Amino acid sequence: MSTVLILADFSGDHATKTTAELATAAARIGSVSAVVLAPAGKGAALAATVNQGPISNVIVIESNDFASHGVAAVADALAGVVKDKSPAALLIASHAFGKEVAARVAVLTESGIITDAVDVAADATATQLVFGGSTTVHSQVSQGTPIITVRPNSIDADVSAASPAIENATAAISDIAKKATIASSQPPVKGGRPELTEANIVVSGGRGTDGNFSAVEAFADLLGAAVGASRAATDAGWYPHSHQVGQTGKTVSPQLYVACGISGAIQHRAGMQTSKTIVVVNKDPEAPLFDIADFGVIGDLFNVLPQATAAVAAKKG
Ligand SMILES: Cc1cc2nc3c(=O)[nH]c(=O)nc-3n(C[C@H](O)[C@H](O)[C@H](O)COP(=O)(O)OP(=O)(O)OC[C@H]3O[C@@H](n4cnc5c(N)ncnc54)[C@H](O)[C@@H]3O)c2cc1C
Repeated sequence: MSTVLILADFSGDHATKTTAELATAAARIGSVSAVVLAPAGKGAALAATVNQGPISNVIVIESNDFASHGVAAVADALAGVVKDKSPAALLIASHAFGKEVAARVAVLTESGIITDAVDVAADATATQLVFGGSTTVHSQVSQGTPIITVRPNSIDADVSAASPAIENATAAISDIAKKATIASSQPPVKGGRPELTEANIVVSGGRGTDGNFSAVEAFADLLGAAVGASRAATDAGWYPHSHQVGQTGKTVSPQLYVACGISGAIQHRAGMQTSKTIVVVNKDPEAPLFDIADFGVIGDLFNVLPQATAAVAAKKG
């Protein structure tokens, strides 16, 4: 059976759910090896958290170059594994870091790349949604190793327990990859909320909040949801740009997306319309986002959200 590589995805010192999603997609193609790129001395601990999904093997490479030289060193190491294993495909999480790694590995291995896949078939055909989600494209890489980045939350992850074999390997990091050195870095300040692109529930606010996100945040916190925002809200400085959902923001595909005071411009829809269930709260019955809503509430979000929050809280006991 052919080997399929995935680049294990981490949040802090734990593999994310996205790692299991990548493994689930990769297992359709072949036997899954997860690559763990770790700082010196941390490989075993990180590899131990790669314990969900159909993963038969974990390849651990330790190097402090990953922290000091960033994406270039990561791509060098991963390209080395690709050249060594000749996998049937390499799957990487489709966030900014993952896409940059994928692009660099594609260049280093003279391979084709497909980004932002929402599905991957057994023959490594990738499915993408383009033109704001209005068109579905199926494509295959025709040269080298298919390198595919997969959007978090697009694949139903097999999260059954895995006890993969551990393989230690080394990487040769080129001088070119070391030309830029990261002088200092600071992890983002994490609130109690989940990461936007990985969250099962996202509650977003738009211009209709008039800059007051308290009702949106209270509802989100009760549901254990991430908070998103339209570009109108982020451009106004009401919410950080890192929370913007849409064409020029993040793409989310949660189980539940609650849009509050957001009209539904095509650029916003592009970032959320693959959500499994869409709830819209808007006081304008003609708001275009109602067209793709599974459940709509016509009303003022400052009336609706506190009532919804109270009702859910009562239900939760
Ligand atoms: C190149 C380009 C890229 C873009 N990228 C993005 C992107 O990534 N993400 C994005 O979101 N936008 C993006 N935009 C902007 C997009 O076109 C819209 O301008 C933006 O999405 C509008 O945000 P909004 O829905 O919050 O505001 P509006 O369109 O002004 O809608 C506000 C809505 O709130 C409702 N409302 C008002 N008060 C209340 C209340 N009290 N209770 C309930 N409802 C209320 C109104 O009825 C209205 O429907 C982009 C635009 C361009 C040109």
